[in-house]
Amino acid sequence: MWGICEVQTDACSAKNGGLITAIWSSPGRKQVNVCTECYEHKKETGEWIVREPKNI
Ligand SMILES: [Zn+2]
Repeated sequence: MWGICEVQTDACSAKNGGLITAIWSSPGRKQVNVCTECYEHKKETGEWIVREPKNI
């Protein structure tokens, strides 16, 4: 979907709007809109542990 990325890493492709996906890091946490670049970055740095595949 189209929106503004909430993660905003250096590699972000949707700082001012772009293709993003809504993810939930764990039950009860709020939704986070993230672009593909930030999503991959968070996974690579280990900040986010992805337990199930997302259609991103
Ligand atoms: Zn981003």
